[in-house]
Amino acid sequence: MNTSQWFTEQLPNAETAFSLKIKNRLHEEQSAFQHIEIYSTHGFGNLMVIDGCTMVSTRDNFFYHEMMSHVGLFTHPNPKKVWIIGGGDCGTLKEVLKHSTVEHAVQIDIDERVTRLAEIYFPELCESNNDPRADLKFIDGIKWVKDAAPNSVDIIIIDSTDPVGPAEGLFGENFYKDCYRCLADDGILIQQSESALLHLTLIKEMRQAMTHSGLTHQQTVFFPQCIYPSGWWSATLASKQAFMPFREQDIINKEFNTEYYNEDIHKAALAQPEFFKKAFQNK
Ligand code: SAM
Repeated sequence: MNTSQWFTEQLPNAETAFSLKIKNRLHEEQSAFQHIEIYSTHGFGNLMVIDGCTMVSTRDNFFYHEMMSHVGLFTHPNPKKVWIIGGGDCGTLKEVLKHSTVEHAVQIDIDERVTRLAEIYFPELCESNNDPRADLKFIDGIKWVKDAAPNSVDIIIIDSTDPVGPAEGLFGENFYKDCYRCLADDGILIQQSESALLHLTLIKEMRQAMTHSGLTHQQTVFFPQCIYPSGWWSATLASKQAFMPFREQDIINKEFNTEYYNEDIHKAALAQPEFFKKAFQNK
């Protein structure tokens, strides 16, 4: 096998690796914040890689983007104002804007280059960027939340890279305290929370930090994502008050298409695996 025809993300701590057979590298650059590569693959369309980690592929991004958006938005009774911290590929923004209740969606990514490259190599994810409700900012999400007014947002989605480099602070207590201040009383934060199989300790620390910040009600949801480590990913919802039952009838009646998400998937994603329940007993 000629290994130069494969992109491989190695996970030394888990002693595993994930590979995609590539046609060629379409782009490579070192931005002010991170190393960005774009590949054309044989089976998964285009692939974006940041600092050696898979971010987004044409073929399977819908799992992640739909679950990061619709679970939270259909749990909130009437989401009007949404912030997406990170999310520079614009896929989450596109899903959020499918909700007619949303009046203003701000995407705050630290690195404008991610969005400019997504516009070229993932144009289907960027097709709502000119929606009048969309607002694209290129600054540090930590600063954005620190400077924002109290009680000013219904939903905060943290669609970040792994908790290293510029994204490290997006998993910490000080950041969640600022999110708490900015969220309305019935507001919901949704954090991409890595793999429950490989990163359980990280999820525990993250949930502890959320609790200390006042976001005491939490719910982790699970979904497949084959290009991410272990192929099984999660997102964690957090709120000041108990979650309302999700708006099942509104999902059934929704006037937009999804590839993965529906009312049954939402229900199934709420189910907690035994090892996960045990890890969070009495927590
Ligand atoms: N779905 C992806 C995953 O889980 O691997 C995340 C995709 S998205 C491209 C991640 C984005 O987070 C990147 O564009 C990166 O620039 C952004 N990011 C990292 N740290 C950030 C920060 N402190 N503020 C705002 N955006 C940040």
